[in-house]
Amino acid sequence: MSGPLFDKIAIIGIGLIGSSIVRAARKHGLATRVAIADSSADARQVAAELKLGDAVHADPAEAVKDADLTIVCVPIGAYAEVGQAIAAHLKSGSIVSDVGSVKQAVLRDLGPLVPDHVHFIPGHPIAGTEHSGPAAGFAELFEGRWTILTPLPGWDEAAVERLQQFWARMGAMVETMEPIHHDQVLAITSHLPHLIAYTIVGTATGLEEHTQREVIKFSASGFRDFTRIAASNPIMWRDIFLNNREAVLEMLGRFSEDLTALQRAIRWGEGEKLEDWFTRTRAIRRSIIDAKQA
Ligand code: NAP
Repeated sequence: MSGPLFDKIAIIGIGLIGSSIVRAARKHGLATRVAIADSSADARQVAAELKLGDAVHADPAEAVKDADLTIVCVPIGAYAEVGQAIAAHLKSGSIVSDVGSVKQAVLRDLGPLVPDHVHFIPGHPIAGTEHSGPAAGFAELFEGRWTILTPLPGWDEAAVERLQQFWARMGAMVETMEPIHHDQVLAITSHLPHLIAYTIVGTATGLEEHTQREVIKFSASGFRDFTRIAASNPIMWRDIFLNNREAVLEMLGRFSEDLTALQRAIRWGEGEKLEDWFTRTRAIRRSIIDAKQA
């Protein structure tokens, strides 16, 4: 199918994800008009210079007027503020979605503010980089990656189908999921790995100066991969941990038990145990490569 899926779309928050959606939507001709809103004057200026949208606003209420699809692309902690600003201005029959990395908190903060005459369909593209801001986005970000939609019970089939098509035409594979399940899965696949990266890089920076210098110099031996993850947006990640607390703490508990088991195996020289463990994890890597998600 070709041709625009929506007349006007509004993107609230023109950072890495918001600007990638705008670029992809334009590349694939998915909307006739694009309105942008961002609270950052710098982001608005860059968005205007890059000609990302037809209009760039400071007030999100201006952007959502007459929009057929509104996508909230701000850090989770800013959702309630955005919801309060846009609720009264949303077009009847339009779709409100988002890209937030935690879904139960989005239902809690944004759900009650979205009027009944608007379809509320939360979403989360499992795609990103460690960079932020409107200049960091690119149209191909979602290609070959999953986007998870977490519609509410009794959802409107036609609205969900339209949003699915929107993501599919940007190159994404789309799946629907319960918000609680989403938060548990992402706690282990994304949130915990980021927490570990933030920890290990923080630990390295706490070392004495002469060791620290060597850590940078020989970083290619493994540390470097953690530093990329630990360079991710601090505000966004603060909000993710504050808003997916239960699932992250549950996964962290399991992780700590396994870490203690490996610690014991090293202490007692249990080579076979270590080898078994590492062989099992190597197979996971192979499955990710086979699933083309590497
Ligand atoms: P980003 O590059 O930092 O962009 C967010 C933009 O929203 C910034 O320009 C920010 O301005 C603006 N903003 C903050 N509060 C606002 C408000 N109340 N009203 C309007 N604009 C506001 O962030 P991002 O990486 O695109 O992440 C956005 C969302 O996508 C987050 O909820 C995140 O969980 C989700 N997500 C991110 C990734 C990833 O890899 N980055 C992947 C999947 C999903 P300031 O800079 O002034 O705060």
